[in-house]
Amino acid sequence: MTRELTHFIGGEHVAGTSGRFSDVYDPSTGEVQARVPLATAAEVQAAIANAEEAQIAWGATNPQKRARVLLKFLELIAEAAPELAKTLSREHGKTYEDSLGDIQRGVEVIEFAAGAPHLLKGEYSTGAGTGIDVYSMRQPLGVVAGITPFNFPAMIPLWKIGPAIAAGNAFILKPSERDPSVPLRIAELFLEAGLPAGVLNVVNGDKESVDAILHDDRVHAVGFVGSTPIAQYIYETAAQNGKRAQCFGGAKNHMIIMPDADLDQAADALIGAGYGSAGERCMAISVAVPVGRQTADALAVKLAERVVALRVGPALAEGVDYGPLVSADALARVEGYIQKGIDEGAQLLADGRGYTVEGYESGFYLGPTLFDHVTTDMTVYKEEVFGPVLFIARADDFEQALAMATDHEYGNGVSIFTRDGDAARDFAARVNVGMVGVNVPIPVPIAYHTFGGWKKSGFGDLNQHGPDAFRFYTKTKTVTSRWLSHDLKEGASFVIPTMH
Ligand code: NAD
Repeated sequence: MTRELTHFIGGEHVAGTSGRFSDVYDPSTGEVQARVPLATAAEVQAAIANAEEAQIAWGATNPQKRARVLLKFLELIAEAAPELAKTLSREHGKTYEDSLGDIQRGVEVIEFAAGAPHLLKGEYSTGAGTGIDVYSMRQPLGVVAGITPFNFPAMIPLWKIGPAIAAGNAFILKPSERDPSVPLRIAELFLEAGLPAGVLNVVNGDKESVDAILHDDRVHAVGFVGSTPIAQYIYETAAQNGKRAQCFGGAKNHMIIMPDADLDQAADALIGAGYGSAGERCMAISVAVPVGRQTADALAVKLAERVVALRVGPALAEGVDYGPLVSADALARVEGYIQKGIDEGAQLLADGRGYTVEGYESGFYLGPTLFDHVTTDMTVYKEEVFGPVLFIARADDFEQALAMATDHEYGNGVSIFTRDGDAARDFAARVNVGMVGVNVPIPVPIAYHTFGGWKKSGFGDLNQHGPDAFRFYTKTKTVTSRWLSHDLKEGASFVIPTMH
């Protein structure tokens, strides 16, 4: 009998009542290992009601006490990390070490959010006028929601939950239906850490549950991460319904390799950033842009040599560089792009299609694939592929390489490899992309800076984690007060008060 997962509402596991389910696969074997219930609007509304009630006391709890819950959670997740990483690998397909990294990048944002007492400190101006003081305070929004993708089932939920609850909100998480077990376990750990029941709820589901969140007046903000069409839909629908929204979408990250770069270093960086996690990272590098023909020819050789040595296998096997794709659909989609690349005239240097792993013949594996001579008019250059496929798109000079990254409709991450400080500085200043790496292939900012892409990679004004997260999950109230120590009779004034 297939194991049945639940929702987590009001501090308890709650069975689904919709009668609708989605299969949860083990991508390494290709077998269904569980099924997850897909919530109805009524189930989502019940979770929101629960959250709304719990938020009142939680929002009134002092920030230091709230932070202590996060600190306790950090102890619990450190103990649970090995077990959690195995669950993550089994549902997602990324390797065990990579799953530990997924958890750790989330943990780092919880560590940051535990600084809530400091981060929530307001501003104060004394003596702004005679007897007048002005102060601003940050207050929680109330109930807020997060809708998250399959590819970081620990990190992205934690990026949202941490700052939101530390700021005094209650949270509804709608994780990906493809790997929901880690988010459910995270909710249990928060409860164990002392978070009051109802402050964090996990509702599993699909479009129906997302729409229930978007149309509920009791939800004041929505944070989304996933593909661009859904990001745009959620941003627009949330805004139409008067909600604050930050929605992060897909990517097509370029890495520029200048002629003066250390090509071995650049090739190693490209292999890790292009094929790690089977390319299913929004910060994966999918386009290598060598500058100049000599650089391109030499880089293509170095990449081709490295690609054949990559070890692809089951997520939990020893010595595997990357595991299977998340689903049969994902595999078919990426294979479709490989065919498209061939049809469009790109040069295929390594073809990963038809890759099988002995004993795991039904797993969703794709070998590393490499294309050269990709041009900017090709579909495979324009669209996000989200798989272990690296495209070499050659540039004649620095300006052309810069223009490629700048003109692409996605603007999540970009990187430049060079020994020339001037070129790197100029590139970082001019490129029209949200996160830039200099000799760093995956420039995911650390927890206390903010994370967010531009153009079609991000909709909304504020970024994830860092100071922006506390701005997103709070509203600012400004109080102007006057206390006079002497009797002052000014009479009524009919002009707007100024500091004249
Ligand atoms: P997805 O858009 O398919 O799903 C994301 C979430 O939206 C899931 O919870 C899903 O259930 C929900 N959803 C799906 N279809 C919906 C619909 N029609 N209406 C309402 N909700 C819907 O994305 P995914 O496949 O889970 O994740 C991969 C994508 O996420 C890639 O495009 C990747 O680049 C992107 N991503 C972006 C970032 C970033 O920070 N920019 C980070 C990670 C992943």
